Amino acid sequence: MNNKTDTAVTVIGLGLMGQALAGAFMRAGHATTVWNRTTAKSDPLVAEGARLAPTIGDAFRASPLTIICVTDYHGVHELLRATGVELAGTTLINLTSGDSAQARETARWAEQRGAHYLDGAIMAVPPAIGTAEAVILLSGPGSHLEAHGSTLGALGTVTYLGPDHGLASLYDVAGLAMMWSVLNAWLQGTALLRTAGVDAVTYAPFARQIVTEVAGWLPGYAEQIDSGSFPAEVSALETDARAMAHLIEESEAVGVNAELPKLIKAMADRAIAAGHGGEQYPVLIEEFSRPRTD
Ligand code: NAP
Repeated sequence: MNNKTDTAVTVIGLGLMGQALAGAFMRAGHATTVWNRTTAKSDPLVAEGARLAPTIGDAFRASPLTIICVTDYHGVHELLRATGVELAGTTLINLTSGDSAQARETARWAEQRGAHYLDGAIMAVPPAIGTAEAVILLSGPGSHLEAHGSTLGALGTVTYLGPDHGLASLYDVAGLAMMWSVLNAWLQGTALLRTAGVDAVTYAPFARQIVTEVAGWLPGYAEQIDSGSFPAEVSALETDARAMAHLIEESEAVGVNAELPKLIKAMADRAIAAGHGGEQYPVLIEEFSRPRTD
């Protein structure tokens, strides 16, 4: 590798994602040390110039910044508790997928041992790592990022979310909630239109137009949620609920699945029963903010 920079990096965990992370650091010119439970997975990286640490303890000692990316937090803890692993003074960034409680608990554990710990989530597939499309979410004390922000930029677009270590995991699942909700709504519409011989490719541009328009409502609706005030500026929830009934009836009439519209209408009906029918759609945040109890 030419173009070497001063910042050495260690990558622990060389599955599909870990290999992509190490590869991106190497392409950006960082001296890269790697370690994996199954040593053979390091071969392609070593052939490209990565240094294989003989032990996981050596891997941590090799660089001021260590990235860990394995299957789950169980694996993270197994590795961090291994003999010879010294965390004091090191910056440890955990890009393993998990939930916010695991992130906070791991942060406490690592900080008690003197590590500068950041938790992260990767919103990308391995081939995108090293391009701007790869979004890397990070949370934890911002001061830990100061020394390593430009190094991490080799991985993609680094987005720092705040000091709470659980934020990266929460944003990760919030993003998935958005993704599946949009896709499920699109599939519902596609199923309806196919009953009239309209194929998915014909419907897709119309669906995309709706998604774009609805996305434009979010900032104003978010202000209503944050202020706790939901005046019906363009439509009242009970108007939406009538349209939901129409969607259910149409789905049943043409023989497509009506489960999803029924679920959404049930939530709207509960909000209306609680007296919110004259307010605007984001008032449903009350339904989303607590488990169903009835
Ligand atoms: P993978 O290809 O299945 O690799 C898993 C890695 O974890 C391997 O290096 C494996 O070591 C290691 N590992 C698992 N349990 C371990 C343990 N108990 N002790 C030591 N090492 C252990 O998975 P991946 O695709 O790289 O995913 C890694 C993480 O990235 C996951 O949390 C995943 O959710 C996240 N992620 C992946 C993608 C993606 O598209 N791949 C996208 C976003 C986020 P061995 O080689 O020895 O088995």
